[in-house]
Amino acid sequence: MRNMDSNNVVISINLDRITGEAESEAILEDLPFTHYPHQGRQLLGRVKGANAKHEYGLQFMKVTGQTRCAYCGMDFTASYENWVQMALDHVVPTSAGKVISINPDWLEDSASKVLACMTCNGYDNRFSLSEDKTCLETLEDYFDLRDRVFSERKKRIENRHQEERRFFDQLVKPIGKK
Ligand SMILES: [Zn+2]
Repeated sequence: MRNMDSNNVVISINLDRITGEAESEAILEDLPFTHYPHQGRQLLGRVKGANAKHEYGLQFMKVTGQTRCAYCGMDFTASYENWVQMALDHVVPTSAGKVISINPDWLEDSASKVLACMTCNGYDNRFSLSEDKTCLETLEDYFDLRDRVFSERKKRIENRHQEERRFFDQLVKPIGKK
């Protein structure tokens, strides 16, 4: 028994180390910006128009190559039902530009935005700055902030989906089976 216990300890330490490495890689891969031109570290210009889907949403897909919800992965090209769920999301909200000084051209740039389904877009609009900076002077600093805001937001949205899925499984799904 004693031997098994010590084996378990060794195994779990090794797993921790492996999980830690895998997690930091996963966070990088999870950033949709890494698939944008220039790995999302350069400005891409603004998309224009008044209609989210026919004008700027479609332009945005062409400019960035993104076709899915950055949070849940819904593919907006897969079906009409998915397509009508598509919205364009400011990762760093424009209101943040009033709290810390951020160039408005950066905030409105395509590199600052992601496609999001309406559900994910509505789940989390919370934004708090852990910044001690009052001004973001370099684009590099700004992109670091964008990546951090996105990762935090994605985590909160995933938690909301888990809660909602539990509700669905327990209370909604059984109604359909009757
Ligand atoms: Zn989504």
